[in-house]
Amino acid sequence: MNTYDFDLFVIGGGSGGVRAARMAAQRGARVALAEALGQDGLGGTCVNVGCIPKKLYSYAAHYAESFEESHGYGWEGEAPRLNWGTLKARRAAEIARLNGVYANLLRGSGVTVLNGFGQLLDPHTVQVATLNADGSPGHTRYTARHLLVATGGTPHVPHFTGREHVITSNEIFDLEPFPQRLLVVGGGYIACEFASIFNGMGSRVVQLYRGEQVLRGFDDEVRHFVAAEMTKTGVDLRLNAGVTRIDRQADGLHVLLEDGNTVVVDAALYATGRVPNVQGLGLEAVGVAQGAQGAVLVDDHYATNVPSIFALGDVTARVQLTPVALGEAMKLVDHLFGPAAGKAPRGMSYDLIPTAVFTHPNIGTVGDTEAQAREKYRNVQVFRSEFKALKHTLSGSTERTLMKLLVDADTDRVVGLHMVGAEAGEIVQGFAVAMKAGATKAIFDSTIGIHPTAAEEFVTMREPVSRPS
Ligand code: FAD
Ligand code: NDP
Repeated sequence: MNTYDFDLFVIGGGSGGVRAARMAAQRGARVALAEALGQDGLGGTCVNVGCIPKKLYSYAAHYAESFEESHGYGWEGEAPRLNWGTLKARRAAEIARLNGVYANLLRGSGVTVLNGFGQLLDPHTVQVATLNADGSPGHTRYTARHLLVATGGTPHVPHFTGREHVITSNEIFDLEPFPQRLLVVGGGYIACEFASIFNGMGSRVVQLYRGEQVLRGFDDEVRHFVAAEMTKTGVDLRLNAGVTRIDRQADGLHVLLEDGNTVVVDAALYATGRVPNVQGLGLEAVGVAQGAQGAVLVDDHYATNVPSIFALGDVTARVQLTPVALGEAMKLVDHLFGPAAGKAPRGMSYDLIPTAVFTHPNIGTVGDTEAQAREKYRNVQVFRSEFKALKHTLSGSTERTLMKLLVDADTDRVVGLHMVGAEAGEIVQGFAVAMKAGATKAIFDSTIGIHPTAAEEFVTMREPVSRPS
């Protein structure tokens, strides 16, 4: 006889929650998943207000430069104009389609999908807020052997005068009207991506970053290179800069900067980091240990200090990337319900996680930065190539490409690989496999290039650059 309503109850229908629910159900577990936003939320941040709509808008922005560059190839005529309303509507339709795909995948796997906000009541009980038939608020309680918190994160905006006038990445996709003048605050993934995207789509973008250079944590040379490229394309990037206050006036938002200057914009995007989504979850009441900004603390198997409660993805505030949440979900399901027939239990390695920043041009990176490599290894060789891509010999674009390899000379292993340039994410994914397999520089050198591509540079760099020791 089953003591609990379900074997697994998942709170949150984002990247990690959906994957865990679906895989557990496929193993024969009885699974429920609660999503606060109902079917419209299925897929979570990535599908609704993250990776997917962001990449679609990035594609939209790239057309602008393609139209411009096509003249160098003989194409004639005026560049078409962006119809922002059409883009928004087509994006919304695609996201709704994906929400439906997620709903079908879950239901097809036998997962009970509940529309409502989940709250932990005790180590085995979740209460889901729902609406009664008459529209009044109600709730239903469910018990489960294992509970999984996969509630993701939410944008964090610091407190200052005029904070109520700013938007976050949650609102930018449906902004109305199109912002001809956009302020972006922050220097991380989201700030740099949206500065590039809106600049590409035709906004005049001022980006403010509080430090010396954007994208802290990335290779220093990559940071400087991409900042220079973004500036060349028209982003007005201001370093060591910040906002004092924002006032709404008839002609737009008046943003008083720390240096005393004022910029007037139509919209101000704050991309100043994300915090775990834990409000109202009941973690404190159940005694789940939390870290900075409420992040749920977990062990190697995503178990919290309450043995029946697990957490993964952005709510644990570790590596905030969709493929990481997916990997964590698959490891957890194998741990709780056993691996798929004939398969070994999946692990989840946090080494050599490749990542891309969809700036224009893109960044693709895997492994150590030069500074990290120099700290870890006695003898680091740096191979570097900077060039104008073949496409731009005719396009008229001044965009340049940077590629960089870091090698531990004692073992010959490639320990870092970085690129700024077109399709860097697409290119670096394959090289990440080689690096996971322990590829040495000798193996890179013995690999035949694909000509003519930019990617072939990674297998043709022969001489290390000299660096002061
Ligand atoms: P989420 O996907 O955030 O899902 C959490 C879900 O839980 C949400 O649907 C939420 O509504 C629901 N929820 C919250 N509380 C409750 C509750 N109490 N009850 C019921 N439901 C609840 N990553 C990449 O790898 N590549 C990218 O290009 C990329 N681009 C991004 C761009 C932007 C603008 C942003 C914001 C993020 C981006 N990310 C990207 C990060 C990626 O979206 C996240 O790492 C990923 O979505 C995390 O998955 P998750 O399952 O932990 O949480
Ligand atoms: P990040 O943590 O990447 O960047 C936050 C930025 O805001 C940093 O530049 C930070 O500066 C700055 N900042 C923080 N607090 C303040 C403040 N009070 N005033 C001014 N500036 C401030 O967060 P994002 O919001 O950009 O993205 C969250 C995460 O989502 C990313 O880390 C990434 O994991 C994921 N993501 C992934 C994408 C991808 O894979 N392509 C795309 C988008 C998001 P400082 O560096 O000085 O701390």
